Amino acid sequence: MGNDALDMLPLYYKILFPSKLFVRWLSYSESDETYFKRRELSFTLAGDIYLRYQSFPDDTELVKALLSKLPVKIDIGAVFNKEPRDNRKTMDVLIPLERELIFDIDMDDYDDIRTCCKGPEICKNCWRFIVIAAKILNAALIEDFGFKNILWVYSGRRGIHGWICDKRARRLTTEARSAIVDYLSLIEGGEFKSKRVTLPANKNLHPSITRALDIIEKEFEDFMVKDQKIFDTVESASKIVDLCTDPELKTSLRNKVLKTPHRTGLERWKCLEKAVELHVKERNYTRTHARYFLDEIKLQLCYPRLDVNVSRGINHLLKAPFCVHPKTHRVCVPVDIANIKKFDPFTVPTIDQLLSQIDAHDALQPEEKDNKESYAKTDLAQSIGLFRKFVVLCEKEAIMQRSSEQRSTESLTW
Ligand SMILES: [Zn+2]
Repeated sequence: MGNDALDMLPLYYKILFPSKLFVRWLSYSESDETYFKRRELSFTLAGDIYLRYQSFPDDTELVKALLSKLPVKIDIGAVFNKEPRDNRKTMDVLIPLERELIFDIDMDDYDDIRTCCKGPEICKNCWRFIVIAAKILNAALIEDFGFKNILWVYSGRRGIHGWICDKRARRLTTEARSAIVDYLSLIEGGEFKSKRVTLPANKNLHPSITRALDIIEKEFEDFMVKDQKIFDTVESASKIVDLCTDPELKTSLRNKVLKTPHRTGLERWKCLEKAVELHVKERNYTRTHARYFLDEIKLQLCYPRLDVNVSRGINHLLKAPFCVHPKTHRVCVPVDIANIKKFDPFTVPTIDQLLSQIDAHDALQPEEKDNKESYAKTDLAQSIGLFRKFVVLCEKEAIMQRSSEQRSTESLTW
């Protein structure tokens, strides 16, 4: 983080970081009052100094620590069997017991297919990979696993984090997390494996794959073919044709798609689509490995690419919402998944923009200077509103669960 942004951190933590809501969120209205106290927070200080196993009794102490240590990054870890910060004194074994189920989708994993940018760069165009991935995951988590309390957070640069906060999700074992991740993983192998999705030609598709394809299909031509230009050159088109495992179809595609002159990438794609459909139809659909070739292409290019190790471990750290990204200085704000298409990472406010917005507001409306919350004077207002709604949702779940537990013990005593 540059010195300018570092200088602004004290004010950010003092008047903008939603520490009360943050602690309310991680307390989940659990009846056990030590729940938040047993949560590991980890701080990264300027100069890459890591302070792990921090924990706090309440938001006042958290703010005090933020102001005295000025972390350039805050990570959230697990809830342990006891307060992690006491660990140094007692030497007892710290055991991670609970944590949200988390997902990390990063543009890194799309570097072998995106054609617009490389490395840390992103643009509006390749951001759509992240949008599609989040939509597919969100739908699967709700419809296939029944989770309800899901928070999506912009990572501050070129990715998104999913926090599945239902009580049931927080209590998942490592094995159960792995099973969920395996279920949600379709893209196999590393960047050197060319064919990364294979669907069983003799079976119908699993409903979760059909649902993912529905989401991808709405975007595919406009996004992958027109914007990402995957068929614009013979070279890039031949990489797609080469994924075909049916030798007869592959030869015919080479002739039709690669050797015939087409003017645009869209024409090449349309030609490939038609050729595959005809081939499959002629073989009565099931008698060919190529049955799902078009679907395999779409999934290989657009299905979520997960950092599986983040989701599998119960003890993995993940950057907290409302951190300031050390490089871009943008705030890691929650994203409304229902309107994720409208979310524009390039309009997410940076720490210096926020502080100038407060000054501008106070100059225009001096009467509000001391009696309006600082965040409400800035572009952070909407994000904090979204976060508050989410925290209330989690608290409602806890209350409902407690009353249903109470009812069942009452009925037992009767
Ligand atoms: Zn791009």
